[in-house]
Amino acid sequence: MVKDYSIDTLVVHQPNDDKFNSSIAPLYQTTTFKQKSVSDLGQYDYTRSGNPTRSQLEFQLGKLIKSDYTYAVNSGMSCLDVITRLIKIGDEVIVGDDLYGGTHRLLTFLNNNKSIKLKHIDTTDTNLLLNSITSNTKFLFLESPTNPLIKVINLPKISKFIRKNFPQIKIIFDNTMMTPLLLSPLDYVDIQYESATKYLNGHHDIMAGVIATRNLQLSQDLFFIINATGCGLAPFDSWLLLRGLKTLSIRFAKQQSNTLIIANWLESIGFKVRYPGLKSHPQYELHKSFNKGFGAVLSFETQSIKKSEIIVENTKIFGVTVSFGCVNSLISMPCRMSHASIDEKTRKERNLPEDLIRLCVGIEDVNDLIDDLKSSLILSGIVQEIDGKLIKLNQSKL
Ligand SMILES: *Cc1c(COP(=O)(O)O)cnc(C)c1O
Repeated sequence: MVKDYSIDTLVVHQPNDDKFNSSIAPLYQTTTFKQKSVSDLGQYDYTRSGNPTRSQLEFQLGKLIKSDYTYAVNSGMSCLDVITRLIKIGDEVIVGDDLYGGTHRLLTFLNNNKSIKLKHIDTTDTNLLLNSITSNTKFLFLESPTNPLIKVINLPKISKFIRKNFPQIKIIFDNTMMTPLLLSPLDYVDIQYESATKYLNGHHDIMAGVIATRNLQLSQDLFFIINATGCGLAPFDSWLLLRGLKTLSIRFAKQQSNTLIIANWLESIGFKVRYPGLKSHPQYELHKSFNKGFGAVLSFETQSIKKSEIIVENTKIFGVTVSFGCVNSLISMPCRMSHASIDEKTRKERNLPEDLIRLCVGIEDVNDLIDDLKSSLILSGIVQEIDGKLIKLNQSKL
């Protein structure tokens, strides 16, 4: 019997069947595979269709995700591209109103080309969401917690309702923020995907995405598209991702503990902080009820775009970078950077504060990170240090 290891062991334990017993799975940096005869084709023939290094990665990811079918592709957006090709003309698609910017861009493109009918709903309002489903609805795209507003959806309730009342709907879930360590979405949804560019790889040196399902028919449809379009992850990138995965658990644990400390610290100064690990988060209990942790992304407001810019541009350890999930800490202003593809009017409608600062916390020493933020906050003038205590200017003085 194969023992069921815990996920901390699974990320490191990567058995392979190399004929020389290499301790690390070999890299098959090859496009083609020679065949024994023209009729007796081996398991692999062409890397677009399959490659042993990619298979090794998919096997490894499948164990973490608890999926039956797992595909590694060349970016998170490729996952979405593959999945959206399952949508038929005229299908009604419901999507959250605070989705990742790139997701919003691709779905809006498909909508504008009239191929799909898109409905944006605040998916954190469970009743509103469930009431907007009709018999024409075929797909539901969800994300939780959203980024950068860190809104949590009631995934168990939504899933239960849809499975019972609208079994024709395919629920698609983007698990980039939580990773398989904190959430197993396939317990609730039909297809999960995530950007492996973020935590799964963790070093910002490759782009990658993972699509997974437990449904045989969907797996065949997904594989057909991946093979037909050629978006499968390249062998070397698959090999690097296998390496990155080994430290996923230890990286993410440190990132989360650092984030919680920073979130509490910012809140104690008086900032409005969005992080599901804070008891002040309106969905703290809901988030805890179906996730095993809080992630490592938080956002906070300053009430001043100018001051936010100064803060972001003057940190020394936090790099001004889009994206997240890397071992080093990042700081950004989503409305200027990662979410600039959402137009200003839509940002306003969705209550995306223009001054919002997002922190993606890495594995550095947390006191160094806090000192770095402190210097930047003081430099911006939003905070003053008086007798060793940090005092935040009140809003009227900004
Ligand atoms: C980054 C990201 C994506 C897109 O992934 P890429 O690897 O950049 O293509 C999708 N969803 C979420 C939530 C992301 O953060």
